[in-house]
Amino acid sequence: MASLFLDRKEFNGAGGFAVGDAIALSVAVQACLPVLELGIHQYDGFVGIVMHADAVVAEREVTDEHGIVHRYDEVLAGEAMEGGPVMLSWADVQGQDGTDAAASAYNVVIHEFAHVLDMRDGQPDGVPLLPTNKDRKAWLAVLMPEYDRFRERVVCGYETVLDAYAAEAPDEFFAVASEGFFVTPRELKEEQPALYRLLASYYRQDPAVL
Ligand SMILES: [Zn+2]
Repeated sequence: MASLFLDRKEFNGAGGFAVGDAIALSVAVQACLPVLELGIHQYDGFVGIVMHADAVVAEREVTDEHGIVHRYDEVLAGEAMEGGPVMLSWADVQGQDGTDAAASAYNVVIHEFAHVLDMRDGQPDGVPLLPTNKDRKAWLAVLMPEYDRFRERVVCGYETVLDAYAAEAPDEFFAVASEGFFVTPRELKEEQPALYRLLASYYRQDPAVL
């Protein structure tokens, strides 16, 4: 599947960053893991993968309810857009601060490609493309209580298996939970069994038993 991925996707290095074979292969094998049982066609909606050497600082602008515009910088390890290229920082793909990425529930490739799966139905809302509207409702009936429970734990200052960033919004919860599902499955299953079962049924994998 990784060779099919490499054949169908186009890697581009930003700012003179050279994407060698080893880098492309590393991204390919990690990106294929979530779709091992779902099929590579899940990624047919885009072609480009833009690789940066390091995290990217993006200028953001939000207008609040009083019409005041707030500008701020956001540091991005990666970004996925509907139909657009997936952006990844190689430094973050390798692991933050030179530490072993597998030692924590952190995997920017799985995170961004989970966003790709989430956006297949047209909206980043924590619900991937599912066969029927009934499936979508059943998904939300599990995801949202798990999301609310997670947010409460974060607000109360408890340690969580998933990164606190997952409390940001349902789409980030799905992406971060997908990282945890593949990187630290036993810990996620222990802490949020219903969420684990939801992801296991979607991805058709049960990494906690491996
Ligand atoms: Zn995200």
